[in-house]
Amino acid sequence: MTGDGNWTWLIPGRVPTLIDAGTGVGEHLDALESALGGAKLAQVLVTHGHSDHASGAAAIAGRMPGVRFLKKPWPARDDRWGVEWSPLRDGDAIAVGDTFVTTVGTPGHAPDHVCFWHPESRMLFGGDLAIEGTTVWLPSSLDGDLHAYLKSLERVLALDPIRVFPAHGEVIDDPGTLLRNYIDHRLKREEQVIEALRSGDTSPEAIAGRIYTRLRDDLRSRAVETVISHLKKLEQDGRAHRSELAWHIIEP
Ligand SMILES: [Zn+2]
Repeated sequence: MTGDGNWTWLIPGRVPTLIDAGTGVGEHLDALESALGGAKLAQVLVTHGHSDHASGAAAIAGRMPGVRFLKKPWPARDDRWGVEWSPLRDGDAIAVGDTFVTTVGTPGHAPDHVCFWHPESRMLFGGDLAIEGTTVWLPSSLDGDLHAYLKSLERVLALDPIRVFPAHGEVIDDPGTLLRNYIDHRLKREEQVIEALRSGDTSPEAIAGRIYTRLRDDLRSRAVETVISHLKKLEQDGRAHRSELAWHIIEP
C-alpha cells in the first residue's frame, strides 16, 4: 500500500514460519531460501488478503512444496491466490519458530486482517494495521471499515505492545503513540465531516471538497473514499443517515 518496502518476516526455529507471502518475485524467494539456510519452511501466516501480502503464496508453494498457508477467511477473495488456506480464527495460538503467537483479529483495513501477538516479548506482527510516518488506507471498495479499524486500534493499544513489525515502512518502536495519534487524527477528521454535514453538504464529493482544500486531482478520489468511510462510521454510530444519494446529520 504506502510506506517503503513490502516486508515479510521469517521466524526460524522448530517451526520455520513466514509472516505474509509477499508477491512471489524471484529475488524474494531466493532471499527466503538463503535465510532458511537449508531448513524447510513449515508455514506462511498471511495478515490479510491484499495482493501485496497474499499473491506470493502460489510461487512459494511452487518452490517449496509442503508449506502450509494460513489466513483468516475472506470468502470473496481467498480463491484467487491459488493455494489451499487453513483457516485462522481470532485467539488461535500458533506454534512459530520455537515459540507461539496469538492471532488477534484486527479488521478495518481489510475484513480478514489479523495481527500476530507474542506476549512474552510484547511484540506484534502488525500487517497493515499501522505504518510509521503515514496513515493507513481503508479501501471502501475492498470492504475497508473505519468503525472496525478504530476498534482494532483500541484492541491493540490495550495489549500495550513495545514494538510492531509492519508490512510496510520502518519497525515501529513507539506503537502506543502512533496508534493514539491515528485515533485522534480520525476523530478530528470525523468532526470535520460532521461540521460539513451541518453546513448543508450532502454528498461525499462536496464534503471532500470542503475538507481537503488544495488537494491534487489524482488524490481526489481517495479523499472521497475516506469521506465515505467516515460517513459509514457515522451511520453505524447513529449520527448520520443516507436517503437516496444525500447524507444528513442526526443530532444527538
Ligand atoms: Zn493491505
